[in-house]
Amino acid sequence: MKFDTVIIGGGLAGMTCGIRLAEAGQRCAIVSQGQSAIHFSSGSFDLLGSLPDGTPVADPVAGIAELEKIAPSHPYSRIGAECCARYAQEVPELLRGAGIRVAGDSRRNHFRITPMGKAKRTWLTIDGYLTAEEADRLPFKKVCIVNVEGFLDFYPEFIAEEFRKLGIECRFGSFNHPDLEQIRKNPSEMRSANIARVFDREANLEALAEELRRLAPESDALILPALIGLVRNDSLEFLRSRVGHPIYLLPTLPPSIPGIRAQQALQHRFRALGGEYFLGDSVVSAETEGSRVARIFTANHGNIPFEAKHFVLATGSFFSKGLQATPDRIVEPVFGADTEFAPTRSEWYTLRFFDRQAYQAFGVKTDSSLRVLKEGQVLENLYCAGAGLAGFHPVQEGCGAGVSLFSALHVAENISGN
Ligand SMILES: Cc1cc2nc3c(=O)[nH]c(=O)nc-3n(C[C@H](O)[C@H](O)[C@H](O)COP(=O)(O)OP(=O)(O)OC[C@H]3O[C@@H](n4cnc5c(N)ncnc54)[C@H](O)[C@@H]3O)c2cc1C
Repeated sequence: MKFDTVIIGGGLAGMTCGIRLAEAGQRCAIVSQGQSAIHFSSGSFDLLGSLPDGTPVADPVAGIAELEKIAPSHPYSRIGAECCARYAQEVPELLRGAGIRVAGDSRRNHFRITPMGKAKRTWLTIDGYLTAEEADRLPFKKVCIVNVEGFLDFYPEFIAEEFRKLGIECRFGSFNHPDLEQIRKNPSEMRSANIARVFDREANLEALAEELRRLAPESDALILPALIGLVRNDSLEFLRSRVGHPIYLLPTLPPSIPGIRAQQALQHRFRALGGEYFLGDSVVSAETEGSRVARIFTANHGNIPFEAKHFVLATGSFFSKGLQATPDRIVEPVFGADTEFAPTRSEWYTLRFFDRQAYQAFGVKTDSSLRVLKEGQVLENLYCAGAGLAGFHPVQEGCGAGVSLFSALHVAENISGN
């Protein structure tokens, strides 16, 4: 099989790169093993929440310019502040083109509310999710936090505890539906995706609206766990119009409905542009000729090679097995690319879970065009995008989605330019 570009990994980075290349007219394939980090997403895309020393960032574009001076090996610094500022304009359009409606401003972080009720800086949030301009000010004074009876991946009490610190009056409501009884028989089935399937049915959504109308009085707004709209994309508008009251969604523990929807929307957009998506297949080996990757082989296609002018490594970090840790080194398993890591294992992590963990910045070494290095030499037609790149702390710096999106656009631009 021959393509212009083959992308390995179908998470946020792989999909974004594929969409951009397909838009540019390339014949493009994505080979992806399985679920990606976006299936666990909060419904928000982070750009830059803090500088490496912990200083909070209000204006992400300005923060990225600052990074160029203080963290030259950060992926944003390699891409360049000017390019990043341009990509920050392009991303919302790209997401909307796939049907993912987002709001946010790259010159001003807003706050998303976590499943524990805490405010966290972010860049873009999918429409319908509760956000705030200030960490200590929410758009209501009295709120009713509603949950599905027996759903354990959402914690109204914790959320209320945080909201009460802001002077917000909280009460609780719950709802049920006979169609939930089937999945309730097995507690491990009471998960967000199964519940969302129940409320994708019009009659059940109507019944939910009826329950919410009952709970709405005496509150300025209703908070719901993100359990609606797995397939239909008008569920929240439907409820809002039927209930006639502000309704906001909060993310649940995984699996994440907004994440699954975003993944499906990006995949659909890629395919609509003519891209070929090989889901459930994994790249197991590669052959190089001189300083170029000639072909790759996958588990499902055996000795039938995927050949291309360009290849993109978008296999993610440890979470997606794009990086693997042995007792003494960090390995990139497909190409054996050079990786950045601390030489002594005791430096890899601290025992305090919430501290800045060194291993999170480990990753694949690249040149300034994000081309992969192997044994110190550049592989001319192999690029790396996304969470597998070295040099950043996605959690502490709040930059996970931004690095995946911008590196993907940068790689696509470099490939198209070539
Ligand atoms: C649990 C979790 C939740 C997160 N939530 C958020 C959030 O809410 N907001 C935010 O801004 N950031 C979040 N992040 C940060 C996250 O890293 C990025 O947002 C981004 O989604 C990462 O995308 P990616 O495409 O780079 O990597 P991944 O999403 O990890 O995708 C890599 C893909 O490559 C595939 N793959 C791996 N090896 C192979 C192979 N050999 N062959 C074929 N396919 C392969 C995997 O199956 C996977 O589909 C989260 C990270 C994690 C781990």
